[in-house]
Amino acid sequence: MAESLLRFVDVAQEHPSKRAAKARTTDFQEIYEDYLRPKAAEQAARCSQCGVPFCQIHCPLHNNIPDWLKMTAEGRLDEAYEISSATNNMPEICGRICPQDRLCEGNCVIEKGFESVTIGAIERYITDTAWDKGWVTPPSPKRELSQSIGIVGAGPGGMAAAEELRRLGYQVVVYDRYDRVGGLLIYGIPNFKLEKEIVRRRADLLRDGGVRFQMDFEVGRDASLQELREKHSAILIATGVYKARDAALPGVGLGNIIQSMTFLTASNRKGLGDSVAQFESGELDASGKRVLVLGGGDTAMDCVRTAVRQGAKSVKCLYRRDRPNMPGSMREVEHAQEEGVEFVWLTAPEAYLGDDVVRGVRAVRIRLGAPDATGRQTPEIVAGSSHEIEADLVIKALGFDPEDLPTLFAEPGLSVTGWGTIGIDFRTKMTNLDGVFAAGDIVRGASLVVWAVRDGRDAAASIHSFLQKKLAGQPNESNDPERGGSNDKGKSSKRASRRRVHQSVD
Ligand code: FAD
Ligand code: SF4
Ligand code: SF4
Repeated sequence: MAESLLRFVDVAQEHPSKRAAKARTTDFQEIYEDYLRPKAAEQAARCSQCGVPFCQIHCPLHNNIPDWLKMTAEGRLDEAYEISSATNNMPEICGRICPQDRLCEGNCVIEKGFESVTIGAIERYITDTAWDKGWVTPPSPKRELSQSIGIVGAGPGGMAAAEELRRLGYQVVVYDRYDRVGGLLIYGIPNFKLEKEIVRRRADLLRDGGVRFQMDFEVGRDASLQELREKHSAILIATGVYKARDAALPGVGLGNIIQSMTFLTASNRKGLGDSVAQFESGELDASGKRVLVLGGGDTAMDCVRTAVRQGAKSVKCLYRRDRPNMPGSMREVEHAQEEGVEFVWLTAPEAYLGDDVVRGVRAVRIRLGAPDATGRQTPEIVAGSSHEIEADLVIKALGFDPEDLPTLFAEPGLSVTGWGTIGIDFRTKMTNLDGVFAAGDIVRGASLVVWAVRDGRDAAASIHSFLQKKLAGQPNESNDPERGGSNDKGKSSKRASRRRVHQSVD
C-alpha cells in the first residue's frame, strides 16, 4: 500500500525491533530484526523530501536517499533498489554498519524536533528484499576488454572497484593474503553487527560475474608489486591498515595482554567454523575472565561486546575522555551498556600489573583541559589519582597504522605520506608509479566501509579513464607532487593534512 509522504509529524521514528539484551548476548547473531514491508513504507514516508537533502550531502556516496525513500513509501521497491544500487556496491552492508548518527541520519533535517528518518534500516530493507527477490545480479559486461587489472586487497574498497571495473568489461584479478574475501568485513567486524553470509553472497556475486580471486596470496611475499605491474595493465592497492597502535607501558610483555584484531579475528574464525588453537587453549577466549578493554572507538566496542558473548565474568572499557568525546558511534556505546559493559570514563592506564600473567592495570584519573589545535580538550592527569583495576585479560584497541609499505611491497619507489599511508594524486587516485592506484584505508588511514566503497568506485573510474587515454595514445596527466603524489614525506604529509578526510573508527 502506498503511503503519503511528509509523515514525520504524525508518525514517530521507529527502528526495526532490537532483540532483548539478555537474549542477544547468548549468541552472535545480528541484534536487529527486519522491518516488515508496511513498517518500512511507513517509516520511509516520514521523509519531507527536502529540496536540499542534507542526508545525501553527508553520505560519502551521495546516495539519492530522498528518491529511494519515496519509492519505498510508494511500494515501488524494485525502483528503490535500482536507485540505491546505482551509487553503492553494498547498500545492505552500509545500511547495517555505517555510523548513521554521524553521517546521513545525523544530518536529516527533521532530526531536531522529530528524530531522523531511519535511513540505514530502510536502505538495508530495500537491498535485503532485492536479494530475496533475485534482483541482485552479477556484473555482466556488454563487451569483454583484453586489459587486465590487478587489485591487491579484497576488502570493501577492492570489492567495490572490482565490481565497477568488471562491469566495464575488464579482466579483474583480486589478490588477498587472507583465505576469505571481505577484509575487515569478515575478520574484523563481528557477526552481531554484520553476519558473514551477507559478505559471502557479495563475494559469490563477483565470482559469478567473472572476477577472479587469488586468495592466500601476499604481495611482497608471493610476488613483488613490480611483478604484478608487469602482468596487468593497471594495479589498485586497497590493502587497509593493520599495524596496531600500542601503549608502551611498563609490564607490556605480560601474558594475557592482546591486540584487538588478534581477539576479534580468532572470534570471527571460530564463528566461521575454523579451528583456532589459541582459542581452544583458552588464550583468546574471554569466557570466565574479567576483561578490560583499552580504547573508546568502534573497535573497542566490538571487543567488549564480543567478550560479553563469550561469557566473560565482567567486561570494562577504559577510556581517557568522557562519553560525549568518544570517537565511537553513540549507538554502539548504547548497545554495549545494555549488554552489561561497564564504562570507566576519564581514566587512563599507567602500567600493566602482574608477574607472568596480567592481573590488572594501574590507572589514573583524567580531567579534560583546554582544547588543542584540533578543538579537542586535552586530557590532563589528576594528581594523586593512581588506583588499580583488576583484570585477567587486557585487550588493546588503540587504533591502527599502515605497515611499512615500500618494504612490504618490495617497491622502494612507492610514494608514502608522513603517516605511512600511500600518497596519491587526489584527482586521479594514482600513486607516483604510472598505472598504480590506491584506495580505502591505505590512503585515508583507519576509516569507514562507506569511504572504502567510495574510494574503490572513484579509483575504478580513474583507472578506466587512464586506460582509455592510453589506448587512444593520449598522454595521461603526470602525478603532480602539488596534488599529493610526492615521494617527499615531509611536504606530502603537510599537503595531505590539509586534505585528509579522516573518519577514524578507533
Ligand atoms: P580492508 O577491509 O582492511 O581490506 C584490506 C584487504 O587487503 C584485507 O583483506 C587484507 O588481507 C588485504 N591485504 C593487506 N595486505 C596485503 C598484501 N600485502 N597482499 C595481499 N593482500 C593484502 N567501518 C564501518 O563503516 N562500520 C563499522 O562498524 C566498522 N567496524 C569496524 C570494526 C573493526 C574491528 C575494525 C578493525 C574496523 C571497523 N570499521 C568499520 C572500519 C572498516 O572495516 C574499514 O574502514 C574498511 O574495511 C576499509 O576497507 P579497505 O578495503 O580499505 O581495507
Ligand atoms: Fe547512510 Fe551509509 Fe547508507 Fe550513506 S551509505 S545513506 S551514510 S547508511
Ligand atoms: Fe528526507 Fe531527512 Fe533527507 Fe530531508 S534530510 S530528504 S527529511 S531523509
